[in-house]
Amino acid sequence: MINVETFQVGFLGTNCYIVTDESTKRRAVIDPGYKSPQLVKRIQELGVDTFDYILLTHGHFDHIWYTEEIRALTGAKVVISKGDAPFLSDSSLNLTSTFNIRNFPLLSADIVLDNNDKIMLGETEFTLLSTPGHTVGSSCFISFKDNVIFSGDTLFRLSMGRTDFVTGDALELDSSLKKLASLKGDFLVYPGHNEVTTLEFERKNNPYVSEK
Ligand SMILES: [Zn+2]
Repeated sequence: MINVETFQVGFLGTNCYIVTDESTKRRAVIDPGYKSPQLVKRIQELGVDTFDYILLTHGHFDHIWYTEEIRALTGAKVVISKGDAPFLSDSSLNLTSTFNIRNFPLLSADIVLDNNDKIMLGETEFTLLSTPGHTVGSSCFISFKDNVIFSGDTLFRLSMGRTDFVTGDALELDSSLKKLASLKGDFLVYPGHNEVTTLEFERKNNPYVSEK
């Protein structure tokens, strides 16, 4: 069993999550996109040494901005896909040059994962599923035991991520959404922006999602 707490951070309203493996109380932060006193307060309440990972769904600045602070606070390891790892230190790829953001921290990954690689958070296994399209290395972190997907900017409630940024690819995103829709059963979907949804709701109602 996992528990998920949501924090909206930054001017683009990025969803940052604290995930707790309930049986061991080991934790991860997903997409610490911006400074957030509430997030830091909550991490301190829960215990800075209970955090094992910072999981990044992709390398855009609004998902990674506060990574170094959270790593320094907790000692957690930074995890990202091989495809988006270069974004952490490249201002064109992570869009800080496009958005005119100065003094953006240079980041680096501790663990780089490939498609279908697994990572254990306490007793909960997360699988990184490659879902390119929004960026070349966009990923979903999935717990098949809990039927939970952290979908980053790939799948949103009734929508999908943009494909007009550097390394974006509309055809790739389309096949990534098909890949998600074809997973067996229903899943809670925690996206990178906007409200939580379910995979079944998106299969039925999202105009960009179809199983075929
Ligand atoms: Zn993005």
